[in-house]
Amino acid sequence: MEIRRFFVSQSDISDGVVVLCGDEFAHMTRVLRYKVGYKAIICANDGVERLCTVESIGRDSATLRVDKSETVDRKNVELTLYAGLLKNNKLDFAIQKAVELGVDRIVPFLSANCAETKFCRDRSSKIALEAAKQCGSAYLSEVGELISFDGMIDRFKDYDDVVFAYEGERKNRISDFRPTGKRIAIVIGPEGGFGAEEAEIIKSNGAKCVSLGRRILRAETASVVACALLLNGLGELDCE
Ligand code: SAH
Repeated sequence: MEIRRFFVSQSDISDGVVVLCGDEFAHMTRVLRYKVGYKAIICANDGVERLCTVESIGRDSATLRVDKSETVDRKNVELTLYAGLLKNNKLDFAIQKAVELGVDRIVPFLSANCAETKFCRDRSSKIALEAAKQCGSAYLSEVGELISFDGMIDRFKDYDDVVFAYEGERKNRISDFRPTGKRIAIVIGPEGGFGAEEAEIIKSNGAKCVSLGRRILRAETASVVACALLLNGLGELDCE
């Protein structure tokens, strides 16, 4: 039987015992029909995999004993993807791929050319959770609340570097980007792209403008390409 992966908070683990509750408990017991004695991998967004055995199953929670812990991943950088809100399930795709690549946080934003205005954080967080399980991540990427364009600009100060993938950029290549610290943000526009005024505001607030090549990529393609190139250049796609 495949040993399934579940995500908890650090506070759910103490003295070698894990308490699983909420949606993850429901998934374990009602969907996967777990019983006492079954094995599970428990992750708490810290790069550690805990091989556990189910010791008890109650009405609302289960307790698991940690049999073996192993640090399987570590992050040298913390990458946040700021993604212009996209229509239909294109943002779902961008979130899923960002999680698979190891992006730490995905924050959707509204800008002048966004055609979509509706966003459901719970639904998108579930997509991130399923992607983390599927790819065997020991980290759980966070999906943030929908913010405004100005709200995104205000957050630039929280990062060592903000990389701005701009379809109008003709000189700087993303592969030439060199980080100055560990906290990095990457900004990708919506289907309608960025207006010249928005681009100027982003650049004048310290973002480093880069091109993803001569061709205009779809927003969801651009977010995958930009995150992959950045993470690869930062050594985050190494396999050891
Ligand atoms: N509809 C616009 C393109 C928007 S693409 C147009 O046709 O001009 C959506 C976003 O993907 C852009 O805002 C940008 O952030 C990113 N992007 C797409 N192609 C890019 C490229 N060649 N270089 C840099 N960023 C790109």
